[in-house]
Amino acid sequence: MRVWLLGVRGSTPAPGPDFVRYGGHTSCVAIAAEGQDAPSVALDAGTGLRSLTALLPGPAYRGAILLSHLHWDHVQGIPFFVAGDQDLSVVDLYLPAQGGLSGRDLLATMMSPPCFPIMPEGLRGTWTFNTLPPGRVDICGFQVTAVDVAHKGGRTYGFRVEDVSGSLAYVPDHAPVQGCSDEVRAMIRGVDVLLHDAQFLASERVTADLFGHATVDEAISLATEAQVGRLVLFHHAPARTDAQLDALARTLAAPMPVVVAAEGESIDIPG
Ligand SMILES: [Zn+2]
Ligand SMILES: [Zn+2]
Repeated sequence: MRVWLLGVRGSTPAPGPDFVRYGGHTSCVAIAAEGQDAPSVALDAGTGLRSLTALLPGPAYRGAILLSHLHWDHVQGIPFFVAGDQDLSVVDLYLPAQGGLSGRDLLATMMSPPCFPIMPEGLRGTWTFNTLPPGRVDICGFQVTAVDVAHKGGRTYGFRVEDVSGSLAYVPDHAPVQGCSDEVRAMIRGVDVLLHDAQFLASERVTADLFGHATVDEAISLATEAQVGRLVLFHHAPARTDAQLDALARTLAAPMPVVVAAEGESIDIPG
């Protein structure tokens, strides 16, 4: 499979000259299955989702979008995803089940007047809005496992995504200090590539706990314990400049390759 990093930032977009190389878009990752040229699954729909249109062979997206949770930095790209807003678009959106609400009503909590000009049904094309319970499901040829992870404010999933070529785990927002369940450890165990929350540094411990996020050290520790093949540090703090991320990259030490996620890069599995 091929994985494109379309948005690697947490909390809010980060435009400006200090954020050019690692990118300013919020969380979105697109995945193409083995043997396919174009992505058919997106993980999260932050502002990086806008960049998915350029990866497609035609004007309309036909595929799935899985949301880890409903915080702004993971959903605000939905109504601005041009390839998802065409008459020929066919998009299956999956939202973490919670509160007994339908998928449509969950999405409408952030996408409806007066917060936003249109409702979910204002999107053109054929959209389905599905609630996703934890567990394993087949989506667009991938085996997807959704697992509850500790975060702050609403249900949050981490995903393990597998096909014949290998496995990816995506855990963009995670507060392991609140407790890391056996299910979470099993979800990331032995994956070829782990994308993990690394929004904060050890020196920012108090803020990390307040916001419900991980530190770089915690991400490396989890990846080491789970014996993952590669670790990609993801969901950078919006104020973390290119120079600061370069400096961070120079300090990393782990038993597996570790890279700092940069918008626009792609990862092949197996690599
Ligand atoms: Zn986030
Ligand atoms: Zn979040």
